[in-house]
Amino acid sequence: MIAEKLTKTIRDVPDFPKPGILFKDITPVLADPELSLEVSKEFYEYWEDKGVEAVVGIESRGFIYGLQLAQQLGVPFIPVRKAGKLPFKTIKHSYDLEYGSAEIEIHVDAIAEGQKVLIHDDLLATGGTAKAACELIEKIGGEVLGYSFLVELAFLDGAKKLDGKDVHSLVTF
Ligand code: AMP
Repeated sequence: MIAEKLTKTIRDVPDFPKPGILFKDITPVLADPELSLEVSKEFYEYWEDKGVEAVVGIESRGFIYGLQLAQQLGVPFIPVRKAGKLPFKTIKHSYDLEYGSAEIEIHVDAIAEGQKVLIHDDLLATGGTAKAACELIEKIGGEVLGYSFLVELAFLDGAKKLDGKDVHSLVTF
C-alpha cells in the first residue's frame, strides 16, 4: 500500500519553520525513485478519467508531481506562485494565514474560460492555500474540478474549506 510506504518514508521535522509545527518533509520520497514513480502512477490512475483539462501546481512543492501529472494526462501545467515571481501580467489573491497574510498570483492568460482545472500541492493543512488558488482560478474564468495532495493533515479539517469538491490524498495523518 502506497499510504504505508509514504508513512514510513516521509520525515517528520519538529518545530520547522517555527515552533509548534511538525513539518512533513517529502524529500526522502523524492530520493526514492521506485516510490516516487509509484506516487506519480497513483495520481495518474485516480485522475485519468475525470476530465481534467489543466493542472495548477502551487509553489513550490506542488510543481514536482503537478508537472508530471499534467504531462501524463496530456494537459497544460500552470504555476501559481507567491507574489512578484511570475514575469507576465498577473492577477493576485490575498488570504489570511495563522499569523499575517499571503499573496499568490497566476498569469492572466493561463486558463481559458470554462477550462476544468485540477489543483495540486504536496500537502493539505488548513486548506487556506488551496482555497486561495481556487479563487484565483475562478477569477480568470476557470472551473475547479478537484484537489490533489500527497499528504492530508486530516485533524486540521482543511478539506471542509474546499466546497465539497473532490479531494484526493495519498496518505492522511
Ligand atoms: P494550508 O494553507 O494551511 O493548507 O497549508 C498548505 C501549504 O503549507 C502547503 O503548500 C504546504 O506545503 C505547507 N505546509 C503547511 N503545513 C505543513 C506541514 N506540517 N508540513 C509541510 N508543509 C506544510
